[in-house]
Amino acid sequence: PEFITVSNLATIMHVPLNKIIKSMEDLGFENVRHNYILEKDNAILIADEFNFEAIVLNANTVEDIFSEPVKPGKLKPRPPVVTIMGHVDHGKTTILDYLRKSSVVEQEFGGITQHIGAFTAITPESKKQITFLDTPGHAAFLKMRERGAIVTDIVILVVAADDSVMPQTIEAIKHIKKTGVPLIVAINKCDKHGVNIDKVVGDLASHDIDVEDYGGETQTVRVSGKTGLNMDKLEEAIITLSEMLELQTEPDGVANEGWIIESKVEKGVGYVATVLVRRGTVKNGDILVAGNTYCKVRGLRDENGNSIKKAGPSSPAQVFGWKELPVGGEFVIQAKDERRARKAVSHRIAREKAIKQREEVEQINEQRSEEV
Ligand code: GDP
Ligand code: MG
Repeated sequence: PEFITVSNLATIMHVPLNKIIKSMEDLGFENVRHNYILEKDNAILIADEFNFEAIVLNANTVEDIFSEPVKPGKLKPRPPVVTIMGHVDHGKTTILDYLRKSSVVEQEFGGITQHIGAFTAITPESKKQITFLDTPGHAAFLKMRERGAIVTDIVILVVAADDSVMPQTIEAIKHIKKTGVPLIVAINKCDKHGVNIDKVVGDLASHDIDVEDYGGETQTVRVSGKTGLNMDKLEEAIITLSEMLELQTEPDGVANEGWIIESKVEKGVGYVATVLVRRGTVKNGDILVAGNTYCKVRGLRDENGNSIKKAGPSSPAQVFGWKELPVGGEFVIQAKDERRARKAVSHRIAREKAIKQREEVEQINEQRSEEV
């Protein structure tokens, strides 16, 4: 049988996940989440709701490269991918730096930390892995967001205890509600004297956050990015929530998938891109397609500059060997061989060109009709 997760369907159709979930609920599906697995007939039904004609392709005749159906037997838990949001100066960077450093110290051979757009932390107590994305304002994120990509599993909303809810906090809350991504509140700067934490909790509640303090589901953790107060609690809160979410993927046995987080040209090395792996495990020799370019993986590096042999689910890795500079935010998918990768890229370029030409023609027609 053929299967697909709701989030993969969202990615393929470029439709926001919450819209799909809403439409599924309207159709009578229950308890739908991003990792909900659909069988073929239901996937076709839902695709139809969005005016997509679902064609289940025979692997040998696929012209482009597609996300492989879910293999339920191969699903394993995967670490959460976390983004931090909040008002300017409320302490996002300070918190990320604290988490990054406290984790690097644990690594014996940790080299010099590089900013590659994401990093992995190991929780002090439960020794679980958490991946933090550290460039949320980045163009790559806007692009992924626009496509409805669900890169982030959990959002940490940072609110400074001495400033409470501010315009960008409200923006973040709106975004979180819209995408339906689960959230944890970090009330920051709790080391400061005279801060009124109860007021912050009240302000959050009045902005529709169902804080646990009032019997709701949203965890609130009182932290200080500066002194490290309760930062371990924040990490454990992330683990608790991620276990509830039952995040899963296939670490092997499927074509690799992921996202380009950022990319650059490095002297003597060429094009380098940070790939956040979502499914499968990327290793040397793999062929990856991203947007209008592809890569035969020549090497992998972690955020500490160490060479690594492979990168599994939820792990960010710098990947070398791209033919062109990949664009941040692009979806990454493995091709069986270079021939298929080249074919996919040329198809995509041709398709883009055709779309552009059609738009130009439409524009001309519009202008002409206005002139008449
Ligand atoms: P961002 O704009 O959200 O990234 O905020 P920053 O991390 O740059 O922090 C803004 C300012 O608040 C800086 O001067 C930080 O040193 C300070 N700050 C951040 N977190 C804390 C905290 O927990 N306690 C105190 N006292 N100051 C903090
Ligand atoms: Mg900052």
